[in-house]
Amino acid sequence: MEKYRIDLPVDEIPTHWYNILADLPEPLSPPYDPDNGKRLELLKQVIPSEPLRLEFSTERFVKIPEEVLERYLQVGRPTPLVRAKRFEEYLNAPVKIYLKMEGYTYTGSHKINSALAWVYYALKDGAKFVTTETGAGQWGSAVALAAALFKVKAYVFMVRASYYAKPLRRYLMQMYGADVNPSPSDLTEFGRKLLRENPNHPGSLGIAITESAEYALKNGGKYVVGSVINADIMFKTIAGLEAKKQMELIGEDPDVMIGVVGGGSNWGGAFYSFIGDELRSGKVRRRYIAVGALEVPKVTKGVYKYDDPDTGRVLPQLKMYTIGADFIPPPIYAGGLRYHAVAPTLSYLMSKGYVEGRDYDQEAVFKMAQIFAQVEGYVPAPETAHVLPVVKEIADEARRTGERKVILISFSGHGLLDLSNYADVLGFEKA
Ligand SMILES: *Cc1c(COP(=O)(O)O)cnc(C)c1O
Repeated sequence: MEKYRIDLPVDEIPTHWYNILADLPEPLSPPYDPDNGKRLELLKQVIPSEPLRLEFSTERFVKIPEEVLERYLQVGRPTPLVRAKRFEEYLNAPVKIYLKMEGYTYTGSHKINSALAWVYYALKDGAKFVTTETGAGQWGSAVALAAALFKVKAYVFMVRASYYAKPLRRYLMQMYGADVNPSPSDLTEFGRKLLRENPNHPGSLGIAITESAEYALKNGGKYVVGSVINADIMFKTIAGLEAKKQMELIGEDPDVMIGVVGGGSNWGGAFYSFIGDELRSGKVRRRYIAVGALEVPKVTKGVYKYDDPDTGRVLPQLKMYTIGADFIPPPIYAGGLRYHAVAPTLSYLMSKGYVEGRDYDQEAVFKMAQIFAQVEGYVPAPETAHVLPVVKEIADEARRTGERKVILISFSGHGLLDLSNYADVLGFEKA
């Protein structure tokens, strides 16, 4: 019988994270500090020391601490690999589609994979609490969950506009006991200054990052980073390492890998261990596709150069595909895809032609998400749904050529807290 759901036994959960730096054909361009070391110094003080060390390490495999592994199991790992059999039927093409289901975790996305590691390492440094920023709230809720499971307080700086407009994930964070503050907030000097200028300041991710760093620095906490940097992506490779074992269990080898890119940790977490094997063998033969939102077109129109990772310009610059740290994205609902740049490691792979970029607009994506929900019964997150148009293109091509394709998709999260956004775009009557 063909397998439509592939589970990894609990005791076969990977015990090590994978580090792509071990297999890149050349060293990655290092961070650059335009402020003579000030930004690097800040980074050293506010982020936990072990992730900072791992950021520059070239060890291929890094042992996952027992305390983290145990909590991975608790929150739903290993996640299943599910074959989208009915979506295949809908596409009516010689394709097999496998979904790595990160939405099966407690907070509903891949973000918990690194949040647990960050909080663990922050506590090892003796942090009194952790801080982080969040836009729509996916990263914030993962950190809130991780902090709850490690019995430490999380201070989350949530972009003020989202704090009021998107309360569901805020409620989730509050349920977990996190201290959620609309950013700009009155907890920091930077926030108070902005509020004096404009009491209704809508905030931005960049401002929230600056506030998180300031609050951690001044009050004995540690700041945890949700994407983009190597260490964060390394922590997220648990998903891809599981998927690799699951594909091996059924004797399948994917031809095409597809994932969406916010900062790049979903993509890298799912596929770095696959592309790393190919880099090591000297030949990359699979197709790797990174998908973004047309409204934030960094994967198709970004420029590969040094840029600020944050709008507050307090963190060291990184070499990456970027549409500019000042780019103000239109208010799209896939909040996780609004970031202006692509992780340095993924940018490097794109620059070498190993990874293709694709962008799709919200309207097209949401319509396909609805079709997907109706045939598969699963509501994808708006971010995740951005993979669907390219899957259709590949299916159309396979139908024309008759060539069979096995597609592996990082299905980064579920959309059950995003239904109001779907209702807006798809025109359902609202309360
Ligand atoms: C945050 C998020 C993304 C994008 O994440 P990155 O790891 O920053 O690329 C994709 N999908 C979902 C469901 C998300 O919550």
